[in-house]
Amino acid sequence: MRIPLRQMTDVARYMMRKKRSGEKYFPLVLMLEPLHACNLACIGCGRIVEYKDTIRDQMPLEEALGAVDEANAPIVSICGGEPLIYKHIVPLTNTLIERRRHVMICTNALLLERFIKQVPPSTYLSFNVHIDGMRETHDRVVDRDGVFDTCVRMIKLLKQNGYRVQTNTTVFRDTTTEEIEELVNLLTSLRVDGMLVTPGYHYQVLSNDIYLKSDEMPHKFKRVKKLAEDHKIINNPIYLEFLTGERDLLCSPWTTVTRNPRGWKGPCYLITNGHYKTFKELHEATDWEYYRTKQDFRCRDCKLHSGFESTPALDFGKNLKDTFKMVRHYVS
Ligand code: SF4
Repeated sequence: MRIPLRQMTDVARYMMRKKRSGEKYFPLVLMLEPLHACNLACIGCGRIVEYKDTIRDQMPLEEALGAVDEANAPIVSICGGEPLIYKHIVPLTNTLIERRRHVMICTNALLLERFIKQVPPSTYLSFNVHIDGMRETHDRVVDRDGVFDTCVRMIKLLKQNGYRVQTNTTVFRDTTTEEIEELVNLLTSLRVDGMLVTPGYHYQVLSNDIYLKSDEMPHKFKRVKKLAEDHKIINNPIYLEFLTGERDLLCSPWTTVTRNPRGWKGPCYLITNGHYKTFKELHEATDWEYYRTKQDFRCRDCKLHSGFESTPALDFGKNLKDTFKMVRHYVS
């Protein structure tokens, strides 16, 4: 199984409840960024540039918990910045687990050893370790030698101690298909529970040319799609077909909402029209249909995981072939 059974059933039940009540724009994942400070400065990170004026801000614990209640999404992805330097990360994680939220900690792994001494394994807890390639590539992307080796050591430590571990890999322009395959094989040998492989996305605030152009994506993601047949790649199979150019998808930005120290970021993880004080204000200020149908010029060529990955999940059951494909993929 590529996704924990409890998480799949909780999300399915939640979606059925929302659909029955006639709600159309509901979140599946809350990207909770309680801070933007980081102990690395990765070359593709838009956060440390966009939020440089508030880089020292940290959300009070009550505010973080309040945001979780406001969105009421079944999955809470705690990211940043580096979430393990957030001063309330332990009570935040423990409280969310107690409240039966599926917590995903998105981390560069540098501070994991200290954290796992304070938070035991749980069905509701997963780590999402950032690893963008083999040693030379990853250390170049994070701009520090030795980080790749730490990631490998931490993945082994987490697995030995019974934690669920998945990885998050961004494919850049100069990532070769051979290197993707080498990394996937390595992660399989480390017994990771799932691998997310996504295209690098171009933040409004960055001007470097490291991101895949849309015509470069199919070649790289055809290899990822092939690898997904035998390895625990957790990208939705329909989303993979979108990345290989075999089909088009509409966007679902409301399914993955972002809350950070400035407020609710809208309309999506990638582009910022504003930060809103409440979740309700985010919804009132955002024309979801406009973004769903990719009418904004900033949506041109966008294939962002957090925008598109949930679109097939929302359509689950509508098309028999796609539904079968998703079930086969996730239970294998
Ligand atoms: S297409 Fe991309 S940029 Fe546009 S709303 Fe969706 S995720 Fe955001």
